[in-house]
Amino acid sequence: MHINKAKKIVIKLGSSTIVDEKGKFKKKWLLSLISDIKKLKKNKQEVVLVSSGAIALGQSYLKIKNKKVKLEMSQAVASVGQIHLINEFQKLFEKNNIKIGQILITPDDTEKRRRALNARRTFENLFKLGAVPVVNENDTTATSEIKYGDNDRLAARVAQIIGADLLIILSDVDGLYESVSNKKSLIKKVEIINNNIINLVNKKNNTYGSGGMLTKLEAAKICMNAGCNMLIANGSNFNPIKQIIKKNLFTWFVPKISNLDARKKWIISSLSSSAKIYIDQGASKALKSGKSLLPSGITKVLGAFKKGDNILIVDNNNNDVARALSSFTSDEINKIKGLQSDQIENILGYASKSEIVHKDDIVIL
Ligand code: GLU
Repeated sequence: MHINKAKKIVIKLGSSTIVDEKGKFKKKWLLSLISDIKKLKKNKQEVVLVSSGAIALGQSYLKIKNKKVKLEMSQAVASVGQIHLINEFQKLFEKNNIKIGQILITPDDTEKRRRALNARRTFENLFKLGAVPVVNENDTTATSEIKYGDNDRLAARVAQIIGADLLIILSDVDGLYESVSNKKSLIKKVEIINNNIINLVNKKNNTYGSGGMLTKLEAAKICMNAGCNMLIANGSNFNPIKQIIKKNLFTWFVPKISNLDARKKWIISSLSSSAKIYIDQGASKALKSGKSLLPSGITKVLGAFKKGDNILIVDNNNNDVARALSSFTSDEINKIKGLQSDQIENILGYASKSEIVHKDDIVIL
């Protein structure tokens, strides 16, 4: 993976990369990253930063000792901390004559197509203005059901939406290891995220804090499906990007080769929701040959969803078949599953589409 060849790069900084244990913002470190970003920009590479740290900085400013604050309180803490975070960024980028723009995102901004396109336009316009977008989750309004909660997946979804070709997740480890006790076992390249890979992270002896590495693997899935490279690398040193290039030390998640258009990439790499539609073998065959999903092939619906929501289509043996956008709500499908299309109007009491999911809204996995 040649970092210097990527055209659009998203760099994700975790709270501990940017805020030290005492709750102080790491100015010198950020200045060294900015000098790396300056070089990337000189090389005509577009850069987006996704930075955590609002809650950590807010806690230290408000002198809240508790490591884990309750969600309600963390929203208020983040609203205080985000100002400090972005002020620090603004001051230090300004010193280097680079403008920044702040983008605060909730899952609706990435998971609703129209809003995702709006967000993409804002990113593109910031690039045109020569400004570096600095992104964080809008923690002040995001509640637990509608929250990313981690900036790994958020960064991956941003990378997909803006058509980035590289996401670099800066962490406090060199990447993904076969065994944490053996530093020689760094996995240099991952081409598929299967159970073997997931088990490495689930193991009890893992010191990353499994949440940390698990959400990075979730992010990698999003990137790989979207055709975007992803690296997990150590960001602890000064000039982290320069160091990574020099040492060639990271885990590289290789993107799938895909001929999907941007909209279908958006559908396939959507945040995994728990909503599922189960289908029989006949419907599974039909979908795989490019047909729409009709009510007759549906055997079961799991979870509640609205029209236009992203759902997973699963066969009766529990194999994932497709990701798709449903044209009906879960309540409606529960009423018409197993029936013929011409019965829909009678049962629901109003005229509607004859396909539960149109073929244009289906991406086979
Ligand atoms: N958005 C949170 C913050 O800025 C952090 C989320 C994360 O740690 O990934 O404090």
